[in-house]
Amino acid sequence: MFKKMPIRLRLTAMMVILLTICCVGLTLILNFSAGIMATRIDAVSVLPAQEVSEEINVIDNFQAPSNVMMPTPSEDVQKARTDFQFESVFFMLLIIVCGGILTYYISGKVLKPLNTLNSQIKNRTVHNLSESMDIPATNDEIAELTQSFNEMTDKLNNAFMMQSRFSANAAHELRTPLAVLKTKVDVFKKKHTHSTEEYDALISVFEKQTQRLSELVFTLLDMTNMNDGFENETICLKDILKDIVSEFSHIADGKDVKFNLDCDDSVVYGNTDLLYRAFYNLIENSIKYNIDGGKVMIKVKPDKKQIIIEIKDTGIGIPDEEKKNIFEPFYRVDKSRSRELGGSGLGLSIVQNIITKHNGNIVVTDNENGGTCFEIILGK
Ligand code: ADP
Repeated sequence: MFKKMPIRLRLTAMMVILLTICCVGLTLILNFSAGIMATRIDAVSVLPAQEVSEEINVIDNFQAPSNVMMPTPSEDVQKARTDFQFESVFFMLLIIVCGGILTYYISGKVLKPLNTLNSQIKNRTVHNLSESMDIPATNDEIAELTQSFNEMTDKLNNAFMMQSRFSANAAHELRTPLAVLKTKVDVFKKKHTHSTEEYDALISVFEKQTQRLSELVFTLLDMTNMNDGFENETICLKDILKDIVSEFSHIADGKDVKFNLDCDDSVVYGNTDLLYRAFYNLIENSIKYNIDGGKVMIKVKPDKKQIIIEIKDTGIGIPDEEKKNIFEPFYRVDKSRSRELGGSGLGLSIVQNIITKHNGNIVVTDNENGGTCFEIILGK
């Protein structure tokens, strides 16, 4: 029952119980001592001095010798005793009631900021998450709670904003190929007869755009599935990186891009498929955004506690002001160039997601000889 009560009532009830225990105990002790005192005073007034001292011993030892007559309490003493009993019980009840009322009032005052916080939280919706709540100037637990709540709503707001940006960008990306297809079909329908070349051109546009659409849908599905649980194992980085390099050798040869892989037998603990995907995306970009005749340097630098994997290229580089944005889904420094190269802007967002899942970190800097350097830090 106690647990279901509001805190204010709980505090009051606890205080009343405490006061009752203390006051009842005190009243009992007081009445007992008052009783003894009254008997002594009564004895003083009816016995000579020597007998009084004997009488006191008698009372103290609680054993009346047979030759000493116990004096019967006088009427005055009896009345004073009853009055004292009545008054002590009355004041005891008064203290308990006043204590209860005072506790109820004070606890209401103390809990007021909590009630204010509660009503502020109740007024929170998705639309006003960005507004922070006023922190009371009390420097107590409630101020701390308000501060934590503000931090939590900030994080939630960022997540909502990211989610809505993601949906808007995804819709835009999906709409672009569909719009191209619709325009081509509309133009095609305007003419009644078509040459074989016109049919071929239409089919080629269909092929290209449907390919783009299905790649985008698969990537989006992959991103969603990535949040499901995954199994970890010990992975030899050299095996993964060598496989990726050989997979890209054909494309790299086409651009005359040279690979330089410097890797020992370092191992990491993680999911092979996800890490393969992360390194694949980074190496793909290092060729895609490289110059003809450029270089891609992949270096694994083991440390005591962590492993740093460096992927450097001699490509077009990323301007400093763009570096913070490139991990955002669908973000591309040069939209038309990336589209031409078949990019969707999701590659680096997937990489960051995977590295974060492995409790790692990814940073982007400039390659000292021009180009870009991605550094992935993974725990051992
Ligand atoms: P995309 O599919 O467009 O390649 P990513 O998410 O992989 O998408 O990359 C986002 C953007 O970051 C790219 O559009 C490109 O502008 C830039 N970028 C990524 N990697 C490199 C790189 N190695 N060199 C230069 N620019 C890069």
